[in-house]
Amino acid sequence: MKHTKVKALLSGSKVNTEVNAKGWVRTFRNNQFIALNDGSTIHNIQCVVDFENTPEETLKRITTSASVSVTGTLVESKGAGQKYEIQVSKLEILGDSDAETYPIQLRNKPSLEFLREKAHLRVRTNAFGAIMRVRSVLAHAVHTYFQEKGFVYVNTPVITGADAEGAGEMFQVTSLPLDNPPRTEDGNIDYKKDFFGKHTNLTVSGQLEGETFAMALGQIYTFGPTFRAENSNTSRHLAEFWMIEPEVAFNDLDDNMDLAEDFIQYVIKYTMDKCQDDLKFLEGRLLEEEKSKPQADRSEMALLEKLNFVLENNFKRVSYTEAIDILRDSTPNKKKKFQYIINEWGADLQSEHERYLVEKHFKCPVILFDYPANIKAFYMRLNEDGKTVRAMDILFPGIGEIVGGSQREERYDVLVEKMKALGIDEEELWWYLDTRRFGSAVHSGFGLGFERLVLFVTGMTNIRDVIPFPRTPQNAEF
Ligand code: ATP
Ligand code: MN
Repeated sequence: MKHTKVKALLSGSKVNTEVNAKGWVRTFRNNQFIALNDGSTIHNIQCVVDFENTPEETLKRITTSASVSVTGTLVESKGAGQKYEIQVSKLEILGDSDAETYPIQLRNKPSLEFLREKAHLRVRTNAFGAIMRVRSVLAHAVHTYFQEKGFVYVNTPVITGADAEGAGEMFQVTSLPLDNPPRTEDGNIDYKKDFFGKHTNLTVSGQLEGETFAMALGQIYTFGPTFRAENSNTSRHLAEFWMIEPEVAFNDLDDNMDLAEDFIQYVIKYTMDKCQDDLKFLEGRLLEEEKSKPQADRSEMALLEKLNFVLENNFKRVSYTEAIDILRDSTPNKKKKFQYIINEWGADLQSEHERYLVEKHFKCPVILFDYPANIKAFYMRLNEDGKTVRAMDILFPGIGEIVGGSQREERYDVLVEKMKALGIDEEELWWYLDTRRFGSAVHSGFGLGFERLVLFVTGMTNIRDVIPFPRTPQNAEF
C-alpha cells in the first residue's frame, strides 16, 4: 500500500479506511502513543500501538527520530488533542535512532544556538520544520508574483568578472595554487594564468547584468544566491544569502517604490493564506521567547497581527533629509543614547537609526529616499540638486533594511563622470556602459534579501535560523 502524507490523513478524507503512514517518531508515550511527523505539516498523527500484541523488542525501538512505517485504520480519535488517529495493526521500524546518542532531546528545550550546530537535524523540530515550509512557500510566492505580472526570470552569473558591483566585499574565485601562484615579471600574481584568464569573484549582486536584460526584456527579476565577505557578525548578515532583484525599464523611483510595496504585501498575503498552521505555531513560539525579555524589548504586536498590519497600511515614504531632521531632534540623539550621534546632513544611517525611525517614530514600514550621493553606489541617478541620488531603502520593524534600490543613472556622460570620480574602471564595465550607449532609458530596480523577508514573516530574530545551512564568518559546517 502506498503511504499517505500526514497532512492528508489529518484532513480526514480517508477516515475509517486502512492507511499507511511513514515518518519520524516525535514522541512515544505510555508505550502506546506514537506522535508521528513526516514533514508535510506541523501536526503529528497519533498512532495507537497495540502494545499487548507487539513484541517488547519492537516497542523499545520506537525512539525519538526513528523512522517507522505504520499501517492501520484511520479513525476519529476519542482522546483530546487530535481529531484523527491510526489504530496500528502493523508497525515496522525502518531506521533506528539510538535514544542515548540522538543529539536533540526536546524535553531539555534545546536553545536556538545549540540547534545551529545540529543544522542537519534541527529541521526535525517543529520550529524549523515550520520555518523551512514558510521559506519554501515564500519562494513560490516570489515567482508567482513576478510571473503573473509578466516579468522574465533571469539567472545572472554566480561567478563574476566585475570587481565593482558596488554592493560589498567579495570572495575571490581562483584555481591558482595559493601556496605558489604564478607571477608576472614584476612579481604580482599572474591572473592571466588563472582559470578564467582574469581575476574573478563570487557575485555580490546580479543587478548590473540584470539591467542589461531589463533593457531588452522590459521587466525582469533574479532570485539567486549572492555572497558578501563582510566580516559583520550580526543577526541580519550572512556571507551567503539569496537575493531577489527586479529591474524594470521605464520605471522611475516612484514606480519602483510602488512595485516594492505591492510585491512585499503580495508575498506576505500569499504565505499567510497557505501557511496558517505554521505561522500560528511560530506566533506561539515568539510569544514564548519574548516572555524571557524585558517588557520594553517585546514586540507590541503578535506575529499575525504584525503581518496583517503590513498588509493593511501603506509604507511611509520619507526623504533622507526629513529623516535626518527627525533623528537629530530625537530623544536618543539628544541624550546621546545612539552609538553614532546624528549631527549633520550627509551622515550614513546605522541600523540603530533605521530602527528608531521604524519602531519608535513612525511605527510602520518606512521607505527612505533621496540619499546623499556620496554614501550610495555609483549607478544611482543623480537628482537635479546635484547632491542626492534617487535611492530608496525600505526599513522594517525588527529587521531594519529589507530592500535597497534606486532609479539608475541612465545618462551616459553623468555615469562615466561618476565612475571616474570613484575610480571605477570603465574598461571593466564596458558592457554595462553599452546599455547607456545603445537605447538607454529610465529604469529602476531593487534588491530584497530573501532571508530578511523570511525573518520578518516567521518572527525569528537571527538570520542564521531562517536559512538551512548558514554561512557566516568562521562557520561553513555542513
Ligand atoms: P546592510 O546595510 O543591511 O548591510 P546593504 O546596504 O549592504 O545592507 P544592499 O547592498 O542594498 O544591502 O542589498 C540589498 C538587500 O540585500 C538588503 O536590503 C538586504 O535585504 C539584503 N542583504 C544585504 N547584505 C546582506 C547580508 N550580508 N545577508 C543577508 N541579506 C543581506
Ligand atoms: Mn551590507
